[in-house]
Amino acid sequence: MHRALRGMKDSLPNDSTLWQSLEGSAIDIFHKYGYREIRTPILEEKDLFVKSIGGETDIVTKEMFSFLDRGERDVVLRPEGTAPIVRAYLEANLHKIEPFQKFYYIGPMFRAERPQAGRLRQFHQIGAEVIGSHSPAVDAEIILLLSSILDKTGIRDYKIKLNNLGCHNDKIRLSKILKEYFLDKKSILCEDCNNRMDKNPMRILDCKKDGCRNITKGALKSADFLCDGCKNHFSGVKEYLKKTPAGIKCSEDPYIVRGLDYYTSTVFEVSHPALGAQDAVGAGGRYDNLVKDMGGPSIGAVGFALGIERMLIASAKDCGVLTGLYPPIEVYIATIGEASRKEAFRILNELRSEGIVSDINYEGASLKSQMRDANKLKARFTLIMGDDELGKSEVVLKNMRNTEQHTIPFDNLIAKIKEKLKTYSL
Ligand code: ATP
Ligand code: MG
Repeated sequence: MHRALRGMKDSLPNDSTLWQSLEGSAIDIFHKYGYREIRTPILEEKDLFVKSIGGETDIVTKEMFSFLDRGERDVVLRPEGTAPIVRAYLEANLHKIEPFQKFYYIGPMFRAERPQAGRLRQFHQIGAEVIGSHSPAVDAEIILLLSSILDKTGIRDYKIKLNNLGCHNDKIRLSKILKEYFLDKKSILCEDCNNRMDKNPMRILDCKKDGCRNITKGALKSADFLCDGCKNHFSGVKEYLKKTPAGIKCSEDPYIVRGLDYYTSTVFEVSHPALGAQDAVGAGGRYDNLVKDMGGPSIGAVGFALGIERMLIASAKDCGVLTGLYPPIEVYIATIGEASRKEAFRILNELRSEGIVSDINYEGASLKSQMRDANKLKARFTLIMGDDELGKSEVVLKNMRNTEQHTIPFDNLIAKIKEKLKTYSL
């Protein structure tokens, strides 16, 4: 027997109904905010991520599913959505046609991490990217958009932590401050962090090991590395955030640095207590240099990504089970004998083409077992047809709630069923 690969999960119909409900709520909010969907391929050139996310990041050094394709090209299963979206934006010349774009996306991402609760190798993200603006109002909109999606999906107990990493020069200053701070602590940092020290000291703040986490606590006590422009931008974001509805749960945290190198200026993470060690349900920030670094114009951009699997864990804790989306069966058809089944098939298709949710048992099971199916499916009506009914060109329609039965001739059937469904209440 074959099994799904480690860290990759099927979504069976009972799960899928929750996924659809969650995605539907998110799409609804995106559309209200004027965001439009973008879909990019799952497979991309490896170099796209190495250049954008950064050669020293965990994602690039350890987590990418990469391989040579049949044409010996270095390709990867996408580990995140931002770089492909910027690639698509530039490839379609949107920067020349209409530079300001608000995108959203939903889809699978792949990272070869150690699977555990809330951490998979194929996971799914709902995200948004605004390309073409430096305005702090856009940062506030992105944060509010993210929190509206969480609210709509019944997730309440979340916290948003906000920081500003500064522009390119500020990040160099910050790296220098960190290097000096960690210099005499090298022996107590883990091996990975010792490597990060020279190449990318900001990554040390992101280390998940307890030992390193304890040391990093004092690293930014009085760090002052932001230029005036970035300080102003940060105050602007906070001012705009004050104009959002009461209750936006945002607090400042200088230790939020994010695990991807392209971030500059505003960064944020959203945590939820139901997630334990993997407590981030989503994260995001500005990437003002990425479009230019990828060969486009110098324009600002900001985005976020939420993990769907983690959202489902959080919403199960905060609001119980999300309501599913599959519509209830309105008419279930039970037949006796091959001849009546053929006629019933005609009726079934007529019902479906009229938009009535209906189903049938094709296997010739006993009437008793078909009625059991109808109950299991919570059908509102069962349409029963055997040789007798077929001979008289009529059917028996049973209301499954009050067990009332009526005989209805074929030629009046659809209209009658519609009428009955209109007056049916649960
Ligand atoms: P973490 O610190 O948990 O590794 P991250 O910083 O690597 O998260 P991002 O790249 O910011 O994560 O991705 C945004 C969101 O995607 C995360 O907040 C999380 O909800 C989800 N996510 C990331 N990696 C995984 C994974 N391996 N399994 C499930 N969800 C994930
Ligand atoms: Mg990670």
